[in-house]
Amino acid sequence: MPHVITQPCCSDGSCVYACPVNCIHPSPDEPGFATAEMLYIDPVACVDCGACVSACPVGAIAPDTRLEPEQLPFIELNASFYPKPDGKLPPTSKLAPVLEAPLVRPRSGGPLTVAIVGSGPAAMYAADELLTQRGVRVNVFERLPTPYGLVRAGVAPDHQSTKRVTKLFDKVTALPGFTFYLNVDVGSDVTHAELLAHHHAVLYAVGAPNDRRLDIEGMDLAGTGTATEMVAWINGHPEFTDLPVDLTHERVVIVGNGNVALDVARILTTDPDVLARTDISDHALATLRDSKVAEVVIAARRGPVHSAFTLPELIGLTSACDVVLDGGDHDLVIGDLATATDPLTRSKLEILSKLADSSTPSARPRIRFAYQLTPRRILGEERVQGVEFTVTGGTSRLRGRTDEVRRLDAGMVLTSIGYRGKPIRDLPFDDAAGVVPNDDGRVLDAGRPMRGSYVAGWIKRGPTGFIGTNKSCAGETVHNLVDDYNAGLLADPGKDRAKPAALDKLVRRRRPDVVDAAGWRAIDTAEIARGGDERPRDKFTTVADMLAAAADAPAPSMRDRVLAGLRR
Ligand code: NAP
Repeated sequence: MPHVITQPCCSDGSCVYACPVNCIHPSPDEPGFATAEMLYIDPVACVDCGACVSACPVGAIAPDTRLEPEQLPFIELNASFYPKPDGKLPPTSKLAPVLEAPLVRPRSGGPLTVAIVGSGPAAMYAADELLTQRGVRVNVFERLPTPYGLVRAGVAPDHQSTKRVTKLFDKVTALPGFTFYLNVDVGSDVTHAELLAHHHAVLYAVGAPNDRRLDIEGMDLAGTGTATEMVAWINGHPEFTDLPVDLTHERVVIVGNGNVALDVARILTTDPDVLARTDISDHALATLRDSKVAEVVIAARRGPVHSAFTLPELIGLTSACDVVLDGGDHDLVIGDLATATDPLTRSKLEILSKLADSSTPSARPRIRFAYQLTPRRILGEERVQGVEFTVTGGTSRLRGRTDEVRRLDAGMVLTSIGYRGKPIRDLPFDDAAGVVPNDDGRVLDAGRPMRGSYVAGWIKRGPTGFIGTNKSCAGETVHNLVDDYNAGLLADPGKDRAKPAALDKLVRRRRPDVVDAAGWRAIDTAEIARGGDERPRDKFTTVADMLAAAADAPAPSMRDRVLAGLRR
């Protein structure tokens, strides 16, 4: 009865270290880890102890006898990573090498204090890593009154298991030394220089909040947009509640076929009664209930073998939705299958090869994958009426366009061609790569380390990977930060400024409605209560409502007040 890793795998690697026989790979120290689509359990070496089940923060692991029908393909998928009989990995009989915690060498003048900007996965994993050390203080700053970044606003609402990682983050917020400053905008409410004056270091984990834009004619027409904006609207992000989403037509075209495109296509075609049991925003649910969309086309500029979506997400999509292919695209899949050798790529192509033909009538809204279509212009006068593509002849990105033009009617065109980092005030920015230039997390200004400044997550390495990929990414940055502290390279904040009360005073003067961890817990509790028995939560979608809920936080007990006073 070996255990099996399934679709929600977040790749944070906790299971790897819990496993007593090192049968989960790739492990964070192995070369394939950074690019792996998920982690895999060797079914022969697994001793069924279940240690990985408890360690997994998103509930992605189960014994093979306890899988849901739609999870059964993951048995074969886990095994296929370990080709037998000769196997590509050495025998598994020892613990995976653990990354050592970053040992802080205490010094006079107060504890190591770090400001973290952003509260998504990279920020929370960095805080967790820092707080493994006694006495360290971490202050996490977030622009919104609610934390956890893309886990709250980017993970699709029908992927509730993935959102379970917030339970882990909630535990981090309760660690001694952790303080939340929510509803505070670093850059306008407080500056980088001010944060640096109150901390030894400032670590930016602000993600990649912008979209890569498609620069073609018609992208300004009503009915165009980006999939990432749509995801934020679906998830009730307060800055996207007014997004004009019109679903009164039959077809939506999504350009690009990464996992974000799959998320949006799935939500647009899922039965609203199913979505009503998730934490989808009320405005999105109401619009989806009136939707006339019958087909979502996911259009990629290259061929099937270069599909950007991951295999676990394809398995999840095809088990939940009607997905079809045109005859011509089916031929492309068969052609790619004839030459593909990598087992995981072959599995993807095999699933695509079994999809129904688009000529088969569908009783419910469906998704159609379309290949070798490079977008040329958006059609329409005042609002979108369709999109015109050039047919791409080869597999290369920029060459191989043919003279053939293909048009698809559509009432909405969304681009889903990746996220993009945006410049941070007072920090250098690499415009071409959309990241802050850095050396393993140390910010570089004109090639030299910028004292006290660090990055982690997508603003450090670009918008790739999964939630858990940020754990090793943040860990690397924190190790370098602590090394710099131990080597005396970070300036002490100064006796008065090092005190929590000094920072508190500054922040509250600029931002009287700052929200702390108790405020967030009050918002969280109120949202869960609003969700009732049917939904995991009913989110507040305006900052005003969030702040009103935060104001209901119970006043700290006498004991907590005394302890806080002692800290100051
Ligand atoms: P992505 O995986 O990078 O996919 C981008 C897509 O856009 C590709 O199909 C790419 O095609 C296409 N593209 C780029 N430039 C284009 C252009 N000028 N014209 C037409 N097509 C273009 O991006 P994403 O979907 O935004 O995902 C970002 C990251 O988040 C990924 O690592 C993803 O796995 C992760 N994510 C994971 C989940 C999950 O696990 N459930 C959910 C959401 C996101 P080419 O390949 O030809 O460049």
